[in-house]
Amino acid sequence: MTIIPEVAALVPQMKAWRHHLHAHPETAFEEVATGAFVAAELRALGLDVHTGLAKTGVVGVLSAGDRGAAIGLRADLDALHIHEKTGIAHASRHEGRMHACGHDGHAAMLLGAAAALAQRRNCAGTVHFIFQPAEENEGGGRVMVEEGLFDRFPMRAVYGMHNWPKLPAGSIATRAGPLMGAFDIFEIVVTGQGAHAAMPYQGKDPMLFAAHAIQALQTIVARNLHPLDAGVVSVTQVHGGDTWNVIPEEVVLRGTVRTFDPAVQALIEARMRTLVAGIAAMFEMQATLRYERRYPAVVNSVDETAHALAAAAAVVGPAGVVADPTPEMGSEDFAYMLQAKPGCYVWLGAGKGPEPPGLHSPYYDFNDEVLAIGASYWVALAEQQLPAGR
Ligand SMILES: [Zn+2]
Ligand SMILES: [Zn+2]
Repeated sequence: MTIIPEVAALVPQMKAWRHHLHAHPETAFEEVATGAFVAAELRALGLDVHTGLAKTGVVGVLSAGDRGAAIGLRADLDALHIHEKTGIAHASRHEGRMHACGHDGHAAMLLGAAAALAQRRNCAGTVHFIFQPAEENEGGGRVMVEEGLFDRFPMRAVYGMHNWPKLPAGSIATRAGPLMGAFDIFEIVVTGQGAHAAMPYQGKDPMLFAAHAIQALQTIVARNLHPLDAGVVSVTQVHGGDTWNVIPEEVVLRGTVRTFDPAVQALIEARMRTLVAGIAAMFEMQATLRYERRYPAVVNSVDETAHALAAAAAVVGPAGVVADPTPEMGSEDFAYMLQAKPGCYVWLGAGKGPEPPGLHSPYYDFNDEVLAIGASYWVALAEQQLPAGR
C-alpha cells in the first residue's frame, strides 16, 4: 500500500468531513447544506469554485501549467430515504434520511484529494472536482451533463469511484466495457371485468392474467436471450383486489429490467410488449405496458480503464488490483457522464469484518479505513494523467 504522504496527513480532516456529512444527510436535489459545505472547503483550498450545477452540485477547478489538458474526478453528494440503525456517534441527525451508500465518504475523499493536489502542485493542467447531486434514483449526473457540464468545463476524460463493501479494503476493481447495468422500470395495468368470486363466469379475472404474465416474462431471459447475453426481468409489485370474495376489475404489475447491451434491452422490451398483448388477447382483457428507460449501463472506455488501473496499482499494488471483476446489474448515473466522455468508474474495496452491512442497509457506515486509499487513488490518477514537467 502506498498512501501519498499529504493524504495520510489529511486523514483526521477527511474523517471529520465525512462524519459531519454523515450526521447531516440530504437527499436528491436537496443537498443545499452539503453543497455549501463542499464549496466552502474547496474555496478554503484556493480552488476556483462553481455552484448551482443541477441545483446543488459543485465543481472545483485546480489549474496549473498547461491549462489545455484537463480531466474530471467525480463524487456524489446525496443520501437515501432510510432510517439509520447503526447507533454510532455520528449517526444521522435527520430523521428518515441516511448516508447508507457512502456518498459522504466519496465527497470526503474527493475533498481530500483536492487538498493534497493543491498542496503538491505536481500536475500540469486542470483537474475538475465534480460533486454531483441526486445519484440515487433521480439522475443528477444526467442533469449536470444536460446543463452543459462538459461545455463549461472542457475535459478529455472523466473518472468515478464507488466504495464496494463486497471487496476487501485495499483493493480496487474495474474493467473495460460494461461494469454496471442499465436500469429500466415497467408497469403493466390489466383491466378485466369484476365479478362475484363465486360466479367467475360472469367476469374476466385479471388475476389469471397476472399469474400467466409473471411466468411468461421469465421466459424472455431463459428462452429469447443468447445464453451468453445478460439480462434480468424482475416483477417486484403485484397490486389487485380488496377482499376474499370479489374478483377485481384491475391488477397492476410493476418491476425492473437490467441489461448491459442496448440490443438486449430492446429485445426484452419488444418481447414484453408481445407477451402482454398476447396474454391479454388470450383472456379477452385490455392490458397496457409502460416501459421507461432510466439509467444507461456504466461502460468504461479502454484507454481510460488502463489509466485507472495504473493509478490503482500505484496505490494498492498489483496484488490489490482486480482487473476483471464480474460486472453487477446494479446501476449508477455516472453512466450519463460516460456516454458524453471517455472515462472509467472503479469499485474501491471497502469491506470490514466477515459480513459487512451492504450498501443501502440501515446498519451500513462508510469504512473510514479506505479514505486514504481512495484519496491517494485520485491524486495518483491526476498526477499520472497530467504530469508536471512535460
Ligand atoms: Zn446507492
Ligand atoms: Zn452510491
